[in-house]
Amino acid sequence: VKISIISLALAGIQWSAVAQRKTINQRVDSVIRLMTLDEKIGQLNQYSGREVTGPLVKQNANMLNDIKLGKVGSMLNVQGVQNTRHVQEVAMQSRLKIPLLFGMDVIHGYKTIFPVPLAESATWDMDLIRLSAHIAAKEAAAVGLHWTFAPMVDIARDPRWGRIMEGAGEDTYLGNYIAKARVLGFQGEKLGGLDAVMACAKHFAAYGASSSGRDYNDVEMSDHQLWEIYLPPFKAAVDAGAATFMSSFNTLNGVPTAASNYLQRDILKGKWKYSGFVVSDWGSIDQMIKWGYVGNKKDAALKAIISGCDMDMMSYSYLEHLKELVTTKQVSITLIDDAVKRILVKKFELGLFEDPYRFCNEEREKTELNNPEHVKATLKVAQKSIVLLKNQDAVLPIQKTVKNIALIGPLADSKRDMQGAWAGANEAERVVTLLKGLQQKLGQDVRITYVKGAPIKTNDTTGFAEAVKAAKNADLVIMALGEAYDQSGESRSRAEIGLPGSQDDLFTAVQSTGKPVVAVLMAGRPLIFNNIANKANAVLYAWFLGDQAGNAIADVLTGAVNPSGKLPVTFPRSVGQIPLTYNDYKTGHPYNANVFQYQTGYIDVPNAPRFAFGYGLSYTTFKYSDLKLDKTTMAKNGKITAGFTLTNTGSRAGEEVVQLYIHDPVASVVQPTKKLKGFQKVVLNPGESKSITFTIDNETLSFYNQQLKWDSEPGKFKVMIGGASDDLKLQADFELK
Ligand code: BGC
Repeated sequence: VKISIISLALAGIQWSAVAQRKTINQRVDSVIRLMTLDEKIGQLNQYSGREVTGPLVKQNANMLNDIKLGKVGSMLNVQGVQNTRHVQEVAMQSRLKIPLLFGMDVIHGYKTIFPVPLAESATWDMDLIRLSAHIAAKEAAAVGLHWTFAPMVDIARDPRWGRIMEGAGEDTYLGNYIAKARVLGFQGEKLGGLDAVMACAKHFAAYGASSSGRDYNDVEMSDHQLWEIYLPPFKAAVDAGAATFMSSFNTLNGVPTAASNYLQRDILKGKWKYSGFVVSDWGSIDQMIKWGYVGNKKDAALKAIISGCDMDMMSYSYLEHLKELVTTKQVSITLIDDAVKRILVKKFELGLFEDPYRFCNEEREKTELNNPEHVKATLKVAQKSIVLLKNQDAVLPIQKTVKNIALIGPLADSKRDMQGAWAGANEAERVVTLLKGLQQKLGQDVRITYVKGAPIKTNDTTGFAEAVKAAKNADLVIMALGEAYDQSGESRSRAEIGLPGSQDDLFTAVQSTGKPVVAVLMAGRPLIFNNIANKANAVLYAWFLGDQAGNAIADVLTGAVNPSGKLPVTFPRSVGQIPLTYNDYKTGHPYNANVFQYQTGYIDVPNAPRFAFGYGLSYTTFKYSDLKLDKTTMAKNGKITAGFTLTNTGSRAGEEVVQLYIHDPVASVVQPTKKLKGFQKVVLNPGESKSITFTIDNETLSFYNQQLKWDSEPGKFKVMIGGASDDLKLQADFELK
């Protein structure tokens, strides 16, 4: 067999001919047997191709030459059928003709841009989240890409951290479901489909807990917190079949994660038996020097490869130093082979050895990008991502009597901002702004006067007068306020998370006219906006909703769509409260006591958040009633069914996210007052009732104990059910024997 492969290799390799009869493992082994050490190391090297397709001609030539020499296993940021084909052709001139993997950050859409991931998480709708990821993958695969650096499954509990926009929010249970939905969406049922790409669960691990919300920073964390809160979504991604993992920029307890044996070898490849490969984050191997973890690049490469980082993204450390490390026996060839094997397996699974150009198809590129079905889907996801936070006197939906609307604010007609950070192919032309959406929706019947009023970021007040004038002439004011697209996302930490610039003052000026004001807030993170929350008649949280933002918001404002989003993250009322989650503890001291006493909360601001995790209003109302447990005692491996009735008590159809929380009042590791342990989306017509059931089992009641074992402990439990973490109307107790 070996001889025949070598002769094939010499005859000009045709991997497809070696193919069919063997398992992927055997095929990978036969390739590895042909590889020189240099070629093996080349597979572990990833370059960015912005330079290849961009203007830096000299570097182009060097990179392309390296590809021809077999020194590159993967490229990021090369996109488009023409470009990927061109670069793959160069790889096909290398001695072994091993195809390149093309990767890119396709985070919430490639061409058709969906809401930012945090917004999508507010849908609590796993089918829609999966669909969104699948469409992103379909478009990415149609432009020659094989791999997205998504989903980010980092739990994030600090809204100062700009990358909170890229994840599923603060909760581990919800985060697990979303991680799974996104991985399955990106990858399809089985890797290798032409409508799917490899997913990459990132950033492993605890990146979301970066100290003080400053990006890339150190993380000091107990094992208990790591296992209980931050690791589970990564495990969910493994279970869903995520093809790759990315380590993070932060340190974890003093160790840069790309050099963490504990994370990469003990946990991921050891305990979780992960068979995919791990890529470093951009330049993070090299950054170990800056951190002060190693004194030079060679040591950085050594630490990374030994502790399980398979591919080096853009630090050249492996390329420059692995060979010497192997020849001087500091790194065993088995370790290199293992990393190469993990990468080649994925290339085989993607079918690239049969046809390195499988994903390069001009026809597909034309039909898939911005396909009308994709546009329809992003509209639907955007509609369901919107969270109605306040609706005083039912000012929304806009009443028929309203004939004059003043639309004010810097986000009312700003296309690029609607897409948020990581906007795929970065084309904002087709974005529908709120102005456009409202005009289309309301037609000739309603006059809309648009005034920008203020810029997003600077303290300019010159537009206030015109805004106030428009408000005075209107029956209803809609204000579109918030962040610019580049104020959240990577390296976009903010210490103050209020409305930037003079926007809050603009609101005050406009609101002082006495006209009813609906605030539509757009951002990639929870903002703090107490003034608006207090004084606006209605508040819609619209995040960054993508290409169809304006249509989606107009649908909700006009009542064509009844809002159903629920917050996937706590909205604090003061930066000083951060980190603030719904999982608080009983301390033995009261929160916010009226009399000054030894209290747990603050003496200057309430302890409660501005808006709680799980909260979100609808144009209709829901009644929770008749909670019944089928038994009050549960055996260790038994089950309890919690059933109740949900009724739509309003006058229009609506969708409610019902939530189940558990409290374990006595445990060997003290437990928060509530933990989300179940949710369902329920659609009800006016007056309609449905019986809803949840099943509680040992898994529901388990936590990581002092030995870091996931298990439950006997005793009393409380189950709480409702429509928000701070509004749990139904409660019952039971006992675990
Ligand atoms: C980010 C990653 C991203 C990578 C490649 C890094 O700066 O942290 O999330 O995948 O760049 O673009």
